[in-house]
Amino acid sequence: MAKKKKAKKPLKKKECPFCKDPSLVIDYKNVELLQRYINEKAKIVTRRSSGACAKHQRRLANAIKNARILALLPFVRR
Ligand SMILES: [Zn+2]
Repeated sequence: MAKKKKAKKPLKKKECPFCKDPSLVIDYKNVELLQRYINEKAKIVTRRSSGACAKHQRRLANAIKNARILALLPFVRR
């Protein structure tokens, strides 16, 4: 069976929300913000869906990991 190519969503270049708004501070204590970047299973969302640049995605991931250790965010959600 021939593989069907999936229809690709049009790629829109999204500006990094953290570069765009310097008042947004990535911090492990800023749970409200970090929660927006984990999915329903408590995984860190990909750059594709977060829209963050490499630098900020890295900081985001580190902040989320820190917050998890401090039990501010869950490791896994069922
Ligand atoms: Zn950025």
